[in-house]
Amino acid sequence: MPKLVFLGTASAVPDENHENTYMAVLGREQTILIDCANNAFVRLEQAGIRHQDITDVILTHFHPDHVSGLPSLLLDMWLMRRKEPLTIYGLAYTLERMEKLMEAYDWASWPGFFPVTFRSIPDVELAPVLESAEFRISASPVHHLIPNIGLRIDFLETGRSMAYSCDTEPCQEVVRLAQGVDVLVHECGGGTLGHTAPDKAGEIASRSEAGSLYLIHYNTRGVDVPMLANIARTTYSGPVSIAEDFMKLDF
Ligand SMILES: [Zn+2]
Repeated sequence: MPKLVFLGTASAVPDENHENTYMAVLGREQTILIDCANNAFVRLEQAGIRHQDITDVILTHFHPDHVSGLPSLLLDMWLMRRKEPLTIYGLAYTLERMEKLMEAYDWASWPGFFPVTFRSIPDVELAPVLESAEFRISASPVHHLIPNIGLRIDFLETGRSMAYSCDTEPCQEVVRLAQGVDVLVHECGGGTLGHTAPDKAGEIASRSEAGSLYLIHYNTRGVDVPMLANIARTTYSGPVSIAEDFMKLDF
């Protein structure tokens, strides 16, 4: 059965038990990493995910808490003698910067480096990202400080679905992207610029008629985290959970 694994759930400042927000989608033939926080190589091992199995990486936006671990993961994969190709998806804005970052590391000079393909996602609503026998993944632009996308994953063999808001203010794009999903993973970074407070995340879950809500990308320092779920319950009547690192959801 396909799974979603939370590899990190914290907002930009991690702590001992919460890495920056990123996750993996596990299928039979594809393992898809969504963003890549620091020290991903060890994190994947701890989650029981083989780095060799990762076929695709989707980058949501070029903020360090979401992408800064990718250069190290690519280096580690290469040092572990990876030969299989890897595809990296993102908005042109994001991919241009990731390529520049890798150029700064002079990756063209790393001998025998495995093939990496960059695939640009159009900056439009419900843009197709990838489709296989197992998954259909689409993206919509969301409202953050820089260009960013939310994602919807339809699990074609089980008929289940999820959406991930990524970092965003409450927005209609997520309501449309997440329409009728079984699970909405919504950020809960607070009511500051480019983020969402828990009651607003509940409203988005209600309006998209999501079957359940997982709050992610929350501040863990000096915050009563279980209370965030209670606040979201004031605006959404379905089940609300706090996403935690290493939590696995079946689809
Ligand atoms: Zn961000």
